[in-house]
Amino acid sequence: MLFWATLAALIFGAIEFGMPLENALRSGHDAMQRHAPSGDVVIVAIDDRSLAEVGAWPWKRRHHAALLDRLREQGAKRVFYDVNFSTRSGPDDAILAAALARWGDHVTLPSFFMEGTAMRASQEVLPLPELRRHARIANINFRREFDGGVWQLPYAWKGGGKTTPSFAASIAGVRRGADEEFAPDYAIDPLKLPVVSAAVTLAGGLGGTLVADKDVIIGATTSWVGDVHQIPGYEEISGVYIHAIGAETLLAGTPLDLSWPLPLLLAFAAMILACRVSRLRMSLAIAGGVIALVAGLPLLLEEMQMTIQVMPAIFLVLVVTIRLVIRRIRQIFASRGKTDAVSGLPNLVALRARGGGGGCALIAARIHNYAELAAALSEAEEGVLVRQIAHRLSLGADAQNIYQGDEGIFAWLAPPATAADLGEHLDALHRLFRMPIVVADLPVDASVSFGVDEPGDRPLANRLASALVAADEAAEEGCRWKAADKARLADAPWRLSLLGQLDQAIDNGDLWVAYQAKLDLETNQVCGAEALVRWTHPTKGLIPPLDFILVAEQHDRIERLTRFVLDNAIKAAAEINALGMPFNIAVNLSTRLLGDPAFPDAVAGLLARHQLAPYHLTLEVTETAAIGSNEDNLKTLVRLRDLGVAISIDDYGTGLSTLEYLRKIPSTEIKIDQSFVAGVTRSRSDRLMVHSTIELAHSLGQKVVAEGVEDAATLQSLAMIGCDFAQGFWIGRPLPLHDFTRTLVKQENGLSQNARKRLHG
Ligand code: C2E
Ligand code: CA
Ligand code: CA
Repeated sequence: MLFWATLAALIFGAIEFGMPLENALRSGHDAMQRHAPSGDVVIVAIDDRSLAEVGAWPWKRRHHAALLDRLREQGAKRVFYDVNFSTRSGPDDAILAAALARWGDHVTLPSFFMEGTAMRASQEVLPLPELRRHARIANINFRREFDGGVWQLPYAWKGGGKTTPSFAASIAGVRRGADEEFAPDYAIDPLKLPVVSAAVTLAGGLGGTLVADKDVIIGATTSWVGDVHQIPGYEEISGVYIHAIGAETLLAGTPLDLSWPLPLLLAFAAMILACRVSRLRMSLAIAGGVIALVAGLPLLLEEMQMTIQVMPAIFLVLVVTIRLVIRRIRQIFASRGKTDAVSGLPNLVALRARGGGGGCALIAARIHNYAELAAALSEAEEGVLVRQIAHRLSLGADAQNIYQGDEGIFAWLAPPATAADLGEHLDALHRLFRMPIVVADLPVDASVSFGVDEPGDRPLANRLASALVAADEAAEEGCRWKAADKARLADAPWRLSLLGQLDQAIDNGDLWVAYQAKLDLETNQVCGAEALVRWTHPTKGLIPPLDFILVAEQHDRIERLTRFVLDNAIKAAAEINALGMPFNIAVNLSTRLLGDPAFPDAVAGLLARHQLAPYHLTLEVTETAAIGSNEDNLKTLVRLRDLGVAISIDDYGTGLSTLEYLRKIPSTEIKIDQSFVAGVTRSRSDRLMVHSTIELAHSLGQKVVAEGVEDAATLQSLAMIGCDFAQGFWIGRPLPLHDFTRTLVKQENGLSQNARKRLHG
């Protein structure tokens, strides 16, 4: 930008594009520095009075001769005659020639070129030869600029093979080339030039007081003659005045024109600086300073008879400054919508727009009880809360780099660190949040968990989502923080569309329920089944339930999914019971649903609809820790228990199932996780674990189910150590309802005797 602006300024300078403004500026300065001339140049004016007293214009040449004689008598030093003597006028020409001869070459007569664009090339107009003989010649042409003003005066004119000095240069005795010009000092007040009327001089009126020892310019000042021009600050002025001012200028010293490059260079240097500084206010100050300096420079230099052109420099400063201002305005607009209106922190839009950060870990923090906190606070107090939270999160980092999302979401990019260091850091942050935050004199507790997306090149929006999922999972699993699961990311596009497809799958019947037999180890009869959800995707085939159940849980689809499974399972169990075979059905329950107070009624409704006795339904729950520590979850479970529904603790042994939780949860059954069951025949510790769990359960009045039974030996061992029920591939794989009921019928027909034989060796 600076480059182009400078280039434009250079071109402007070269073609003098800024001249009118330059001249306007010069007029302004001149007005400020108005001063009187030296008085060494006197004008003898052929004015209205002269025409009235001497005669109409053009005068007879004898009057001019008389005027010369008077001035000679009065002791004038030299006379510069600004009157056209190029045409013959009869016998009077000889009278004037005689007067000139009397005074030697003290008189200068004018030469000029006819006006027009080709002025220099046109024929030079000279006084008559007999007049010329006794006089010097000087030029009286002016060059008008395109605004019509006479801004520059020539030192000399070239024509007919010789160089003729201008009136001004002749008076001042300055010899310069024909191509050179100087700026007349229009600060000289023309009204203070000594002027005497030609009529008065002819009459000998003022005697020698005014003209003695002075250079005199004789010329017309009356509008009847029409030698009028425009100069800065004056509408119209007669040529004689311009000659006088030019002469006065040169008498005071030779003006020096410094032209435009110097100020432009100064402006260029300043603008480099203005572009470098980060604050617009600084840039504007620099620009203002440079403009003041550059615009004041001519004022300073004029004192020293120097002129300078500053418009290219000012142009450069203005263009660059305007660009800087526009850029800042754009930035302001761009940053709007990128900060949170309440807290003033940058928001997630800003984070996403930020780009980069691939080398940093992206950390998301979720304040889980944010909505609850915000509900109790005014908007201003909420802003305080958010800033306090951000302040805590920024421990050891810059608070400005904490981005804020809605509903208690925060995120930032952490410089690369080892997993251990990062973990320690997050543990420390988590500890910080144990201290209440004080807002409006009220201490509030914020519960937080963190998710980490490790350094990577994915778009920030995706990384943020991953980190948030990890933060939610951390909270669910009772951890302080969790790293985003990389394996799941590989399948991210599929996962993103999974939700919509899941809804469709329920509608289309792609979602169905498989039944896995549950064997009563006392009777050796299949006494029930576990309902396991299945999704046969039209293109991807069978999708493992854990893949879509987690997503369904996170996006509020789990209720619909569970209702679907419950509906199918209860209906199936009711049908089997209706055949006269006592049959229990177990359905897996996501912990999320326990937060829904309407859930027990929904279950009761389904049982009633399909006419299944509540004790034929078992609801399997995991995450005992999450349930045991949450009063609402417990309440829901108790209500389900009160319905008469059996409650089973699934995956027992894998989570934080303390005795305390076991006592709290109104369960009727413990389901030992398959990882222990598989080791019953091989590992002493697994056998011990299973055995002690059976004893514990029985002591609490609960039944025990062993899941994951894959061989006969395991089944036998379980039966021996007093396990109540068994489930596993050895007994039966999860099957579609139709296939499952067929196996049941076979059992009823005694065809399962083979199995029984195998079982008992
Ligand atoms: P789970 O509740 O522990 O279910 C038992 C899982 O073990 C089932 O996996 C079952 O197919 C598998 N399994 C059964 N016998 C054996 C065996 O002998 N050996 C081995 N290795 N595995 C055996 P599945 O069907 O893939 O289900 C996985 C998990 O998905 C379930 O674990 C349960 O937590 C969840 N799930 C399934 N259906 C539902 C549902 O309708 N609702 C909810 N909330 N979760 C469900
Ligand atoms: Ca289960
Ligand atoms: Ca299980």
